[in-house]
Amino acid sequence: MSRPKINRSVLKPPMFTEFKPVGVPSRILSQTFLSLDEYEAFRLADHLGFGHEEASEEMNISRSTFTRLIEQARKKVAGMLINGNILTIEGGNIHFRKNTIRCNSCGHTFIIDINANIVKCPECNSDSLQNFAGNFGHGRCCRGRNR
Ligand SMILES: [Zn+2]
Ligand SMILES: [Zn+2]
Repeated sequence: MSRPKINRSVLKPPMFTEFKPVGVPSRILSQTFLSLDEYEAFRLADHLGFGHEEASEEMNISRSTFTRLIEQARKKVAGMLINGNILTIEGGNIHFRKNTIRCNSCGHTFIIDINANIVKCPECNSDSLQNFAGNFGHGRCCRGRNR
């Protein structure tokens, strides 16, 4: 019997989703997929310097799950740097707590609660907005699923 999946908590969507060595044709490179939960583990431990205990609480997962995620994430990021793999961030069993919005008209970029409904840029009133959580297929599904 498989255990029910518990959605992992990711604070906000990444700003960049694809990394590739400059000047090398894609067809000769290997592609690696970093899931959003691996990304979040890497961000918390190696970018912000969280301990495993603190980071696993932040993501709403067990320490052993966190340890597995961070090991996978480091292996993939190392493969990107050393072997020149293309790294694409996508997928993962997660929901976001916050969203990032960028205005296509003035470039203003801001963070909102995942539950907030924003239809216009607070700086220039444009309604042409880029929704980062939406680009990962998230938004409504995340509501009420996280702290
Ligand atoms: Zn704007
Ligand atoms: Zn979601």
